[in-house]
Amino acid sequence: MHIAIIGAGFTGLTAAHRLQQSDIDVTIFEKEPVPGGLAIGYKKAEWEWDLEKHYHHIFTSDQAIRSLADEIGVNFLFYRPNTSSLVDGEILQLDSPLKLLEFSKLTIVERLRMGMVLAYMKYVADWKELEKFKAHEWLPEHMGVRPYRMLWEPLMVSKFGPYYKDISLAWFWARIKARTTKLGYPEGGFQHLVNKLAEKVEEKGGVIRYSTPTQHIEEKDGKAIIRISGEEYSYDAVLVTVPNIFFAKMAQGLPKEYLEKLQSFKGIGAVNMVLELDKPFFHDNVYWLSICEKGYPFLAVVEHTNFIGKSHYDNKHLLYVGNYLPHEHEYFSKSPEQLLDIYDPYLKKLNPEYRSSVTSIAKFDVPFAQPIVTQEFSKRILPFDTPLKNVYLANMQQVYPWDRGTNYAVEMGLKVADHIVKNTR
Ligand SMILES: Cc1cc2nc3c(=O)[nH]c(=O)nc-3n(C[C@H](O)[C@H](O)[C@H](O)COP(=O)(O)OP(=O)(O)OC[C@H]3O[C@@H](n4cnc5c(N)ncnc54)[C@H](O)[C@@H]3O)c2cc1C
Repeated sequence: MHIAIIGAGFTGLTAAHRLQQSDIDVTIFEKEPVPGGLAIGYKKAEWEWDLEKHYHHIFTSDQAIRSLADEIGVNFLFYRPNTSSLVDGEILQLDSPLKLLEFSKLTIVERLRMGMVLAYMKYVADWKELEKFKAHEWLPEHMGVRPYRMLWEPLMVSKFGPYYKDISLAWFWARIKARTTKLGYPEGGFQHLVNKLAEKVEEKGGVIRYSTPTQHIEEKDGKAIIRISGEEYSYDAVLVTVPNIFFAKMAQGLPKEYLEKLQSFKGIGAVNMVLELDKPFFHDNVYWLSICEKGYPFLAVVEHTNFIGKSHYDNKHLLYVGNYLPHEHEYFSKSPEQLLDIYDPYLKKLNPEYRSSVTSIAKFDVPFAQPIVTQEFSKRILPFDTPLKNVYLANMQQVYPWDRGTNYAVEMGLKVADHIVKNTR
């Protein structure tokens, strides 16, 4: 049996690794020259480790990716970096129940009420009842309008842009439930972890064809057919790991109703700027700063080297300035310098002197970075099986209520591989 996989991100590579354990041959088609997908990294000649184009870390609760890393011999480092929020012009560390209780911009009654809602989220085991509600309606009603507006609405706006009012409360539940203050990072970077995984797949005879975008997939005489630049390849099955909208474009002969479903799923893109500095940006060791203030042109400032030692990056300080934005947004077409000019007055509010220590600027973007998970999303999630026989779909739009992430991509890769094995034997 020979299965083709579209995409060498965490889902595709994990699925390949698992399928090989059932003696199934795999060929992966990847449009980029390297594996990694959204967790892809880059490395300057003078750096020892790769850096993700978009900031990445895991939580201690992310068991699936931790087990996979153990299996392939990559170590995760865990630290408790400083995670803060910018509220009313002040940087405040608000990453634990105690810190929230001390948060003086809310009255004691507001703090207690908000604390009770967060404790309730931690306590509730079943999210199914919660997904009937929209976070934007339920949260202000239960924790109070001011705490919601001050701390949580900005988070929803920055993560989901124009769609923030529609997000399911179950997504918020999952975020509170699974997140830990200790964060993990693979030694060598996520690119190192994914490279190791790709190596394991290749060692077991798997083929990975990089820089090879799949254009068409169809079903013919019980076989799954892939077409790339006029060439046709036939497999016993194909697993597609790209977002629904891209699958809709490549799959031929899908029934109209299924095609419309695929097209109805929404997502938002991401634009990230990486600044290299020869001095720290934050003076109090902040790793992550969420912007909870209106009018800022970015949502988070993340000083990677306040989490992972700068010695791995030629002693440079690395700073992400992050944004989730709809793909049509003008920032996608800006040059790194133009974008920095827009961000500059706001970055100066955080560190008036930073600009003179910037030694390089890079900008990365992806059109689809975050699925929009609306009320009762579980009822809309598509199964692994598609209307095309032997064509399977597994992507981050099936991750729910957990926020999509590398851990859930690994979990999904394992699940879909087991499903395919069961189906084909
Ligand atoms: C800004 C940002 C921050 C994030 N932060 C974190 C974080 O802190 N922690 C965390 O765990 N996760 C984080 N994530 C999410 C994480 O990166 C993803 O959930 C995970 O990498 C998804 O893996 P995947 O394999 O499902 O999908 P993808 O990574 O999207 O993989 C799909 C692959 O398919 C390839 N492909 C697409 N079209 C074609 C085609 N036509 N032919 C062949 N190949 C094709 C793509 O190039 C890609 O390699 C973040 C993502 C972003 C964008």
